[in-house]
Amino acid sequence: MNNLSNKHYRLRNEAVLACKIIVDQKLDSGPFGNVSVRIPHTNEFWVNPQGITFDQLTPDDMLRVDTSGKILEGRHTMHPGEFIHREIYRLRDDVNAIVHTHSENTSAHSLLGCEIEPYTQLGASIYGDQGLYLGFTGPVRTSSEGTAIAEALGKKSIVIAKNHGLFAAAPTIQAALWDMIVADWASKIHITALQLGLKQADKLSPEFMQKSRVEVRDKQHQFMWQSYLKKIKAADVKEFEFS
Ligand SMILES: [Zn+2]
Repeated sequence: MNNLSNKHYRLRNEAVLACKIIVDQKLDSGPFGNVSVRIPHTNEFWVNPQGITFDQLTPDDMLRVDTSGKILEGRHTMHPGEFIHREIYRLRDDVNAIVHTHSENTSAHSLLGCEIEPYTQLGASIYGDQGLYLGFTGPVRTSSEGTAIAEALGKKSIVIAKNHGLFAAAPTIQAALWDMIVADWASKIHITALQLGLKQADKLSPEFMQKSRVEVRDKQHQFMWQSYLKKIKAADVKEFEFS
């Protein structure tokens, strides 16, 4: 039926584990949100389907699709948010994983229509690495809007879709998940700072911004992946290991 190796199914299982971590961190929002991983060096990727929430999702539920929108493997219906991922993979060869949620903090922050400010090292680590998509017209259902979101991402790691949520795109699922979590925390700090009457964060020098990026993001995402895996139910992890 296909020529995928165990390694490719392991990637699929990691995408499901990322969904479980998102649930554990209370960053999911019912039927909304998508997590996907590219099958390396191809135009194919695994993505969650429509009609199954992250908490219920199992590896067998995942769809393998290509960037033309064809379902290659899986028994469920395509999620309506899938094509945004398709457009990002099409535009960015270096992206192998995308995490999209409507987490409370990132969605609330998106209303501001601006970057997440560097009030602490969390915001500093992603400052200057966020694109903005301001063309909200309700649920994204056309490929042109998907393309516009991918173009707003540009060469960056995060795109904030105003009135909607946030997309994190990275070379690995571990890095994309961690970026999404860091962005959620930093969004909350930004909103709190505004409530305290602060106008803008003091900007660090480019050198210190880069230091935050390395220390907070690059050096932590693998460690935090392992930490989160330990935290979610051991039974789930065992079930999703592919041998
Ligand atoms: Zn969405």
